Amino acid sequence: MIFTTEKIEQFNALLANAKKVVITAHKSPDGDSIGSSLALYHYLTKEHDNVTICHPDVAPNFLHWMIGFDKVVPHQENESEVVQHMGEADLIFCLDYNSPGRIGRMDDLLAKSDAKKIMIDHHRDPAANFVDLMFSDPQTCSTAQLIYELMEARNDLDKIDNETSEAIYTGITTDTGSFRFSSVTPKTHEIAAHLINKGLNHSTIHENLFTNTENRIKLTSFALLEKLVVVRELQAAYISLTQAEQTRFDAQKGDTEGLVNQALSLEGVKMAVFFKESDGIIKISFRSIAAIPVNDMARNHFQGGGHRNASGGKFVGKIEDAISKFVTILPNFVEENKSHFE
Ligand code: 5GP
Ligand code: MN
Repeated sequence: MIFTTEKIEQFNALLANAKKVVITAHKSPDGDSIGSSLALYHYLTKEHDNVTICHPDVAPNFLHWMIGFDKVVPHQENESEVVQHMGEADLIFCLDYNSPGRIGRMDDLLAKSDAKKIMIDHHRDPAANFVDLMFSDPQTCSTAQLIYELMEARNDLDKIDNETSEAIYTGITTDTGSFRFSSVTPKTHEIAAHLINKGLNHSTIHENLFTNTENRIKLTSFALLEKLVVVRELQAAYISLTQAEQTRFDAQKGDTEGLVNQALSLEGVKMAVFFKESDGIIKISFRSIAAIPVNDMARNHFQGGGHRNASGGKFVGKIEDAISKFVTILPNFVEENKSHFE
């Protein structure tokens, strides 16, 4: 139980003393960072009249339908407004990230701010030193679930309206591969059941999240047909996409989301990696099953980190060199984690 009575009292005091509240979440927004931000926003605005959401950059198109999405101020597009909000804030929420390095160029604004800071997050190894109050639980599937549990701990479940419900459900759905991952617990389903009982239209949310464009389907098909490499003997697979290949299919933000999971779904494959050339660097996504700690590889070799089964990192250089590096370290990684690969 992370929402203890004592910590909820601290939360209440921080909120009651705050004139201006800003909600932040990590760079390259996903369904959980947007979902948890909007859920908290819809909730807090019922008791507080000055709440703003500031994110490092804009979320992919498949999340734009969410109620309140237009309330998010992206630093990348509206830097001066974000600087002003962060400067005036006296309470800042840090959602779905565990260290200031995850909010890109907003890290400076966070460091400079005198505001009190509250972290609500589910990533491992949180850096506690940059917040005043920390709600961190790596066992919980999503930050969106933690927002629900926060409302529950404050006896506020009756304040869940349609938009809050939609935001919580979206965060849970996207961070659990639609309720598939091992992070899903009976509690996760109980929350979903409660939201649906309150009238949430879950099937519309799935449609909104998983509708494809023609270009996206073609990009996915190309990646699987031409760019998938299976390293059978090491039970690994990887996919890479250069900038030119993405341009050929007019790839939009979010279009490669989930591609790495397709590689992971292969029979006999226990870890999968996706290399994506993006803005002059190589972004790398790692996924694994069972107890294979791909976050170790991300942290030790690719300046990243994340969850045991889903992590990310980067490589500065050419995409083929990133792939060679991975292929070179892979045998050792498999050897070190031999028991999980059997
Ligand atoms: P994705 O592959 O979807 O970009 O990221 C999967 C997960 O890996 C994210 O939820 C996040 O926890 C983690 N992650 C991705 N990129 C980074 C990174 O550059 N640094 C760290 N520490 N974690 C990352
Ligand atoms: Mn998350």
